[in-house]
Amino acid sequence: MTTLSLAGVSKSFGRVPVLHDVSLTVAAGTRTAVVGASGSGKSTLLRLIAGFERADAGSITLGATTLAAPGRFVPAHRRGIGYVAQDGALFPHLTVEQNIRFGLPRRSRAREDLPARVREVMELASLDAALARRYPHQLSGGQQQRVALARALAPRPEVVLLDEPFSALDTGLREQTRQAVIDALEHSVVTTVLVTHDHDEALSFGRQIAVIADGHLVQSGAPSAVFDNPVSTEIAAFLGAAI
Ligand code: ADP
Ligand code: MG
Repeated sequence: MTTLSLAGVSKSFGRVPVLHDVSLTVAAGTRTAVVGASGSGKSTLLRLIAGFERADAGSITLGATTLAAPGRFVPAHRRGIGYVAQDGALFPHLTVEQNIRFGLPRRSRAREDLPARVREVMELASLDAALARRYPHQLSGGQQQRVALARALAPRPEVVLLDEPFSALDTGLREQTRQAVIDALEHSVVTTVLVTHDHDEALSFGRQIAVIADGHLVQSGAPSAVFDNPVSTEIAAFLGAAI
């Protein structure tokens, strides 16, 4: 577990600015929820941290390592960062076990280690071992998201990024899946950034909440501090807080 920091990060697509001078620190082993309206730049922020996109300005560091800065760009597969997409993005033609194994870097593919590590992360994600041989289409949406999390955690990443991982689930399943995911993250003590547009989820997820509006990080702090002192009526309305 390592502290993740963004300093002055900006990004445009063509001539369209999407993120403006974003600075954010997620302390080692803690969880931050990023909230904001659709189109505000949340996914772009995660994609920059993951190394799927390059920032135009600013830097991203993980502990003492600079991941991205002018003249420096560590490729995604060497960042030690796990990523869970909205729909899980599991490989449809691979079983649960094969999907999770795929997340392990080549150098740790010592044959005897693998089944144990797969069992371990499945248990961590509250997945019954009997599901190991199923294919993604034979799982519920909540199970698929937990497999995506297990795959992300398998290589013991420094950081896990979750992009609206529960938004496609129905209400009952969402609550149950969210709790299983939080428990797994808690056990792994991994530095985590969750993007969500669910305010209850944001307020209960972790130590810090960061609010993005139109590509600007407009407020960050402890959930209770943001809830009690929202900097704008929009944030207050979003969080259901009094102004
Ligand atoms: P959010 O996740 O908050 O909904 P996104 O980060 O996905 O927002 O998108 C922010 C803005 O950037 C949107 O206007 C979107 O259309 C634009 N955008 C995102 N990715 C690309 C891309 N690869 N090319 C061009 N525009 C993009
Ligand atoms: Mg998004």
